[in-house]
Amino acid sequence: MQNPKPGVPTREQIRRAPKVLLHDHLDGGLRPGTVVDIARETGYDGLPETDPDKLGTWFRAAADSGSLERYLETFAHTCAVMQTRDALIRVAAECAEDLAADGVVYAEVRYAPEQHLEGGLTLEEVVEAVNTGFRDGERRARENGDRIRVGALLTAMRHAARSQEIAELANSYRDSGVVGFDIAGAEAGYPPTRHLDAFDYLKRENNHFTIHAGEAFGLPSIWQALQWCGADRLGHGVRIIDDIEAGPGGQVSLGRLASYVRDKRVPLEMCPTSNLQTGAASSYAEHPIGLLRRLYFRVTVNTDNRLMSGTSLSREFEHLVEAFGYTLDDMQWFTVNAMKSAFIPFDERLAMINEVIKPGYAELKAEWLFDQATAERPLASGSAGSEG
Ligand SMILES: [Zn+2]
Repeated sequence: MQNPKPGVPTREQIRRAPKVLLHDHLDGGLRPGTVVDIARETGYDGLPETDPDKLGTWFRAAADSGSLERYLETFAHTCAVMQTRDALIRVAAECAEDLAADGVVYAEVRYAPEQHLEGGLTLEEVVEAVNTGFRDGERRARENGDRIRVGALLTAMRHAARSQEIAELANSYRDSGVVGFDIAGAEAGYPPTRHLDAFDYLKRENNHFTIHAGEAFGLPSIWQALQWCGADRLGHGVRIIDDIEAGPGGQVSLGRLASYVRDKRVPLEMCPTSNLQTGAASSYAEHPIGLLRRLYFRVTVNTDNRLMSGTSLSREFEHLVEAFGYTLDDMQWFTVNAMKSAFIPFDERLAMINEVIKPGYAELKAEWLFDQATAERPLASGSAGSEG
């Protein structure tokens, strides 16, 4: 990048900046080496590669292939190695540790308990193992000098019929590590309205949920998630762009649904790299996040599946900084948006914003200004022995 605008962060500053992550799948974020280790320990022989580097490359290639079958195969492998208590604890702990090392200070990580029962665990045992892992990871991060808090979201699969049961599970663990509920899986043919009982139940319990909607599928899916199901947030929501008309002169007009989403400050959990892989956007520069940010939608930046997309939250921000010239102020705006939209109580969100996020960005901005000031002083560069 030439002639950066004031405040365009370096890669290192992006990593150190406090970040908040609302949309990350536990079974989409394993370390390749861990997949190999657990497969060996548990006798799972289905992996396409047993060298961690080659396996990591295979995951990204399969996710990039444009074939839904190959993409789904990646999750068959990660889920296959997440069927014991020890494996779930390890995967969850490493997830917290990896996010913390990437500068994430608060994360909501989701998983579908029903996909981890093949080794004989009960739904409750799955939730308790993952909770134990997250607490272990938080502790290890603290020992490394990082700080992170991780909450779990329990996902029900759209094509299955267990959403009520999973919603009740989320509700019974709401005071111990589970902060909300989600539904995921193929949108086409499986509208969120199939799961109205679960959403109605959660509303009656004053609990929170997000719905994967408006990724591959268009506006009807977003409309149903909001107006029939009552979602607090939208997973992706990227197709809301179909309800926004941008004229050649730069004038923009919002349809009723897009207006509602913006007026009600509905949080959009955007995952740029994942959207490129599934074809929901064609490049970072053309990703709807650019326009939605300009129009002040409640946009947040997320990773979706770190392993399959070969990404991290810092990398997502690097791509956006490169595509849109975002500054530290923009990064702070996205981060505060995400923290405001988290499912933990208001006072705790506010404390994170005032005690962690704002001071973190203030420090980075001061550092950035200092670097600029010293770089502009002619004697400060390339004149050895000029001190004093
Ligand atoms: Zn997702």
